[in-house]
Formats: sequence, C-alpha cells, structure tokens
Amino acid sequence: MYLWDITATLRTLVANLEDSARLVCVTTVKAAVLLVNGNGPTMAKSQLTDKHLKALQSSPQCTSVIEAISIPNSDLSLYCDVSTGHQRPIVPLEWRRVVFNSLHDLSHPGIRAAQKLLTTRYVWPGINADVRRWARICISCQRAKIHKHTTTPHSSFSVPDSR
Ligand SMILES: [Zn+2]
Repeated sequence: MYLWDITATLRTLVANLEDSARLVCVTTVKAAVLLVNGNGPTMAKSQLTDKHLKALQSSPQCTSVIEAISIPNSDLSLYCDVSTGHQRPIVPLEWRRVVFNSLHDLSHPGIRAAQKLLTTRYVWPGINADVRRWARICISCQRAKIHKHTTTPHSSFSVPDSR
C-alpha cells in the first residue's frame, strides 16, 4: 500500500469516528496529503542530488531497506526506508525543516512526542537531535510553557495584644 493510498483509507476511517477524535485525525491526514501529494515530486527531485542518500545507498554497512516508491501521475520515484514496514521518505537536507514545521506546528507537542511524530513517518540522519533542537527554539512552544509559578508570599500576622 502506498502512502497516498493510506491517506485515502484514513479519510474513510475518519468519516466513522467520533467528532472529538475526528478533529485530530483530519489535521494529520491534511498534513500527509500536503507532504506526499503536493511535495512528493519536488522532494523526489532533491533526493537525486542528496549526498546523504547517495552515501546510504553505496554504504556496505547500510542496514536500512531502501525502496524507490513511484509517485502516481509522474515519472519520479521517492526513496523510502521500508525497514519498519512503513514507507518513510528519506528526507533531503533542504526539506527537513519544512517537514518538521508541517507536523510540529499542528499541535506543538513536547520534544519526545514530536520526535515520535517525525520518526514514525520520516527518516534522516540525526532526526532526533534536529527535532529536539528545533522544538526547543520554537517560540509558540516557549509561550505555552509555564515559566513562573505564582506563589502567594507569606504574610505576617500581628500578634494580638494580650488581654
Ligand atoms: Zn512548537
């Protein structure tokens, strides 16, 4: 099953979900459609000159299973790591921040959640470190954090006069 088929299946599933769950799913599906259908061909083109991918393909120690997945309605293929059973596109350098933003900006999750979100869908060297670094400098994430807990100062009570 191709990624773009999965998005269609997801849409069918989403139609049968409760309203509250639907909201989350719909944003996820939109992101997937945007990245795969919209940017698949351009990402595939930049993969052709990606140094990391070339090194990976020629490395004898390479443990990842790489497959060229053809993009419908084009003569291009997107290289994906299929070692986990999912087709995770190998993201070229110039696309990494774009991919991070598209997923992270949906919900501004914590660092660990963001890492999981990205690594289950995409592959690039040092992905966890990049995600941690970008999540840390995200202004929206900073604003959402509680920096200062307000505490009520100890008040002094005047000792009542002795009677
Ligand atoms: Zn954020």
